[in-house]
Amino acid sequence: IGTDNIRNFGIVAHVDHGKSTLADRLLELTGTVRASPDNKQLLDRLPVERERGITVKAQTATMLYSNHMLNLIDTPGHVDFSYEVSRSLSACDGVILLVDARQGVKAQTVANYLLAADAGLTVIPAVNKIDLHNADVPETISQMCVGFGFEEDEIHKISAKLGTGVPDLLNTVISNIPPPAGRPDSPLRLLLFDSWYDKYRGVVCVVTVRDGKVSRGDLVTSIHSSKKYEVADLGLLRPQQVPQNSLSTGQVGYVILGMKDSREALIGDTICHTKCYSKVEPLPGLKPAKPMVFAGVYPMDQSEYTGLRASIERLILNDSSVSSQRDTSVALGQGWRLGFLGLLHMDVFIQRLEEEFNASVLLTTPSVPYQALMRDGSILQILNPSHFPDKNKVTEFREPIVKGTLIFPDQYLGKLLALCEERRGDQQQLVYLTSSRVMLKYILPLSEVVFDFFDQVKSISSGYASFDYEDAGYQKTKLVKLDILLNGQQVDALSCVVHADSAYSIGRSICSKLKDTIRRQLFEVAVQAAVGGRVIARESVKALRKDVTAKCYGGDITRKMKLLRQQREGKKRLKRIGNVELDRDAFLSVLKKD
Ligand code: GDP
Ligand code: MG
Repeated sequence: IGTDNIRNFGIVAHVDHGKSTLADRLLELTGTVRASPDNKQLLDRLPVERERGITVKAQTATMLYSNHMLNLIDTPGHVDFSYEVSRSLSACDGVILLVDARQGVKAQTVANYLLAADAGLTVIPAVNKIDLHNADVPETISQMCVGFGFEEDEIHKISAKLGTGVPDLLNTVISNIPPPAGRPDSPLRLLLFDSWYDKYRGVVCVVTVRDGKVSRGDLVTSIHSSKKYEVADLGLLRPQQVPQNSLSTGQVGYVILGMKDSREALIGDTICHTKCYSKVEPLPGLKPAKPMVFAGVYPMDQSEYTGLRASIERLILNDSSVSSQRDTSVALGQGWRLGFLGLLHMDVFIQRLEEEFNASVLLTTPSVPYQALMRDGSILQILNPSHFPDKNKVTEFREPIVKGTLIFPDQYLGKLLALCEERRGDQQQLVYLTSSRVMLKYILPLSEVVFDFFDQVKSISSGYASFDYEDAGYQKTKLVKLDILLNGQQVDALSCVVHADSAYSIGRSICSKLKDTIRRQLFEVAVQAAVGGRVIARESVKALRKDVTAKCYGGDITRKMKLLRQQREGKKRLKRIGNVELDRDAFLSVLKKD
């Protein structure tokens, strides 16, 4: 199959609008997998993805259909993962833009459309779920025409679930999306756009062949690191690995280069033949992922440190958008400061660590990356509350801000405006997309958005409002460090950096939350919040004698044993700090507002 008969495309949509379902139908229609009612989210390989019904990692599948080679790259849909979306779009020449006919255009539909359009990709619009009785196809089509300037007759009407309209959509993919633009006669350039770690085979790289051809046994070099490798294996992803002798211009597939270390597979790297190393220009790199939320990660028990380190390194290979640095805490010992794209991303990462690597970890209060402009002119990055500087040395504090987009039915306008104002927002735009659908844009401090804003938006609007945000730099702000003391002893892992005006209310809320999370002990525990050594809030946890076996009457020993075992298992979630036991989730719960 020549380059002219290759199509590289993705599916983008708001979460739940049907990407994975459409991918399943395409795999069936092209005979890549046998049709079966059991085919559900075939490209979602991670347990966490199936369980939560969200796609986290972009997956790739090569399909052969009417004399064409079609490479489908499924993309994640949640707001935290737009980095993964732009990464997978770098391998595409076009996308299908899916919109759920019941829900209409959502904030991520807009964000994903803009990512695709900015990358110069052909966009094929489709309304999905037309089989549902409450689908509003005309309304959805009109939103897409107004919002993106599509013509009514170019919008496909499909049911990904039943397969209606899917063959026609696939024919449009073939006729409208251009073939890859690479040059078969030029020296090899591979774009590395994804990778994962395989226990038996080492690092598996997902690549697209931009120019030239790569064969098994070739000697290649990473332009980024100038490290040399021999191509041990390569092939197509259908979606399982199918070895080939070579991959030619325009093809998408996997290569195994014998990389042992997770950090060698740099996303966005260009790989060329070693003999051409000096004359090949690197491909434009992908924008590196920018972590927005930082938290300390510690083993529940220091003896698990080495094991946890290996697990974190492996997982970061599968998710290079996570940044990592060593860290130490007085209360928790040796650990890491990890940076994530958002809170869901953090949750998913920790869940994978626990499920796939059987790790038991403790997470500290997350924070956003603040900055301090110091008197000596330098800029200090405050990724960790324990690095909070002496305020006499600081000229100005700065906090990260985002440009947020909300799309919702206009009946929620008042409440959502109030929420944005309360979160120190600055309104940029308010437009009606249709007579009853509003798009609102706000500049908001990241710290006000990242923890619970999304949940608040959902609950205020009964789930009808959608939200997405993008990075918008930094602005001047007032910050203080809030310390937490348990029985007079400061717990560094519980410290957080907060806006000066909300220190009192956050201090009070943390104390009362901790009061509820701290297990009652045999003695009274004083919980205090302090700024600069001055206590601003306090609570106390009354003493209690706990005796779980007291619940058993009579001498049923097996039942007694079972209760004791349950208590021991419960213990794994607890961390002793000084003489107080804290629930593992105490750290995370403190920053969520009620
Ligand atoms: P994703 O988050 O975009 O990958 O969405 P999924 O493909 O996981 O779909 C979300 C939900 O919508 C699932 O429960 C699907 O079964 C359902 N769904 C997807 N497409 C259709 C459709 O055309 N009709 C109906 N009735 N349900 C659909
Ligand atoms: Mg999905």
